[in-house]
Amino acid sequence: MPPHSENNRIKVVYVGGSGRCGSTLLSLLFSQHQSFCDCGEIRNIWDRGILENRKCACGEPFSNCQFWSAVVQSAFGKVDTATITRMSTVAGKVTRYRNYFKLRNASQSGHGFVPEDYREALDRLYKAISNSAQGKIIIDSSKSAAYARLLMMLPDVDIFYVNLIRNPRAVVYSWQKKMTYEPGTAREMDRFGVVRASLIWKFAYMTANDVMKEVPGITIRYEDLVNDTSGTMGSILSGINTWLGSPLPDMNIEKLSWANVTHSLSGNPLRFRKGEAIKLDEKWKTEFKGIGALATSILCNSEIRRYRYAS
Ligand SMILES: [Zn+2]
Repeated sequence: MPPHSENNRIKVVYVGGSGRCGSTLLSLLFSQHQSFCDCGEIRNIWDRGILENRKCACGEPFSNCQFWSAVVQSAFGKVDTATITRMSTVAGKVTRYRNYFKLRNASQSGHGFVPEDYREALDRLYKAISNSAQGKIIIDSSKSAAYARLLMMLPDVDIFYVNLIRNPRAVVYSWQKKMTYEPGTAREMDRFGVVRASLIWKFAYMTANDVMKEVPGITIRYEDLVNDTSGTMGSILSGINTWLGSPLPDMNIEKLSWANVTHSLSGNPLRFRKGEAIKLDEKWKTEFKGIGALATSILCNSEIRRYRYAS
């Protein structure tokens, strides 16, 4: 039995951040370590997983994936479409940016804004994932700080928050580009205009910092993760070791590969391109200019300084 599963506590390393912040890369890096089970964006299991049957990172459609089939069967038995649709609707509603402070109050008082059947469903879901992951630490790259607050409401779950920051100008530029979810489909990832994308980025980190007042965690920059993968993963693992109170085996960063099969759900199509070298995409520096780049710089000015993106 791994040391982190003592007392039947479910350990979740939560990757928080804005969209297009590199969370898929980080969760794939975790998947190379024997103590972690990379599950991707678990918050999207209701719609993109169960209802829409999109592809898992293992290559199978969700309903054919052995890992997720076992999870769904264990948590919910026979799938009732009406119930799953309700879970999807509730998940979307309670984690909306505009509802963050209602959710915050609910998570602190333990009742109210979040429907009881949804909390019970999440409780069953994470217990089933932990069983299928055989007690490994769950990597949940759902990103949303609001969703992290939902996990904080589950009685058997402990979370360690990895706040993954990426230069807002790179993120906003990325949000302008067309990107498909998975190979062989025309389904595109969300795209936003400059002002909306900048405000989403800003709010993502404001709420992440709010959550991190209440849970252990670490803030890292995506650029450091790419340029110094070994050092940055070492810092994260060191924080996790302190959280666990017992050291995990070292990670041999020099031999990183994408050889491990993961069951990463939803997220960037990078999860299908195993074997690809890790490199920093800096096209935004030459292609994101003019009024758009200026607007992002103004809207996110305080964070650009705080996270050393001014130069
Ligand atoms: Zn799978």
